[in-house]
Formats: sequence, C-alpha cells, structure tokens
Amino acid sequence: MRIVVLSDIHSNLVALEAVLADAAPFDAVWHLGDVVGYGPQPDEVVARLRGLAAVGVRGNHDAAAVGGREIEMFNHDARTAMEWTRTRITPDTRTWLEALPERRAQGDFTMVHGSPRDPTWEYVTSAPVARANLAVIDTPYCLHGHTHLPIVYRNDDGRMETLAPADRSTLELDGRPAMINPGSVGQPRDGNPAASYLVVELEGDRRRVVWARVEYDIAAVQSSMKALGLPPRLVARLAHGL
Ligand code: ZN
Repeated sequence: MRIVVLSDIHSNLVALEAVLADAAPFDAVWHLGDVVGYGPQPDEVVARLRGLAAVGVRGNHDAAAVGGREIEMFNHDARTAMEWTRTRITPDTRTWLEALPERRAQGDFTMVHGSPRDPTWEYVTSAPVARANLAVIDTPYCLHGHTHLPIVYRNDDGRMETLAPADRSTLELDGRPAMINPGSVGQPRDGNPAASYLVVELEGDRRRVVWARVEYDIAAVQSSMKALGLPPRLVARLAHGL
C-alpha cells in the first residue's frame, strides 16, 4: 500500500497536481494541515483533496481561514493573504476545513500539523523538542509539518539522530520512534523551490518512507498571485524556496 503524505499545500494547486502526478499510482492520501493560506487557489485545493478522500488534520492557517483567532499571530503578509482567503472560500470549503481534527492516529502513525504537544503552533526544529514530543504519543511514529522543512528526528535508544532527506531518500521504519516531516508541497523553505512530499509504503510488517521533490510551474502560480493582488513577498519567495 502506498500512502501519499502531503503537508503545507497552502492553496498551491499547481504544485499539488505536480506532486499527485509524480506520486501515482497510490492508494490513499494523508495531509498534515495548512491546506490553505498564502496561495491563490484555496477552493480548488480543498476540492481536489475531497475528491481523493484525503484524511488529515488542521493547521494554523486552516483554523484562521474559518475565523480562528490564529490570524492574530500572523505576520503582515500572512495576515493579508489570510484576509483574502477568508473572503474567497466557499461554504463547502469552510465546512471541510472546520471538520479537520487537531490530531489523528492512522495505524502506527500519529498525524499533527505542528507537534503532538501543540498541534497548532509548536515548530519541531530541534532534537530535544522532537524527543519531548515523541514521549507524549502512543504510536511509534509521528507525521508532522508546519516548519516546511523535510527532516526526521529519530530516537535511537535515547540518542537523537537527525536526518535530512533528499529527493528519493528512503528510510526503513524499524520501530525506533521518529518525528517525520514531509516538507511543504506549496511553499518549501529549505532553499529548494521544488514541491516536497513523501510516500509511506506499507507491505506486511514493513514500513518504509520515501521523500520526493517535484518541479512545478512556479511562474504560473506567481502570475495568479499577482493578478489577485496577493503580497509581493509571498509571490517572490516561491522562486527561492525560502
Ligand atoms: Zn504552513
């Protein structure tokens, strides 16, 4: 079974379509939140995920889009894009976003946006933070997003290992607890502008994760954003992957 795991799509339908084409064939889609925000096509991205019967969790941008006070924590550009998103989304999109839970368990995997301790806001950016979060879940593995960086923190008998996966990197999951981040589909921030995602492969007792990077038509997304009057810095950053 091949499960595509997507995080931080951020209303970037062009990147999402490139990822789905690259990942095919697959059996299921899981998402880790921030489906909307920043980008130009919130309704289209939600409709695409609904069509795939994707299951997932709520990110801080998803919460803000449906009226949450999370918007008060946003920087100026994120807030401007979110105010636009709020006026733009249809009742169907809103209903779908409102129904997303903060966390979800799927077999051996806990899914959250930020972290198990704070699914909405905590950024897992260090081994100590990863260790503390692995201690509070009852599955061996946690899939999370929010930082927009593909990375793994694994607890190897008390010693934390940090792995930075590249395109087509694979990791065999052997029971050692791990915080696993697929990176961002719609707004990567590791200096590589290509969309980032991962595939979980389940075969009997074997669990394997494969990361991938996919180029997409960044210029097309940038022109839509410009035409809609979204903040210039959000348009520019897509090309830099930062
Ligand atoms: Zn995000």
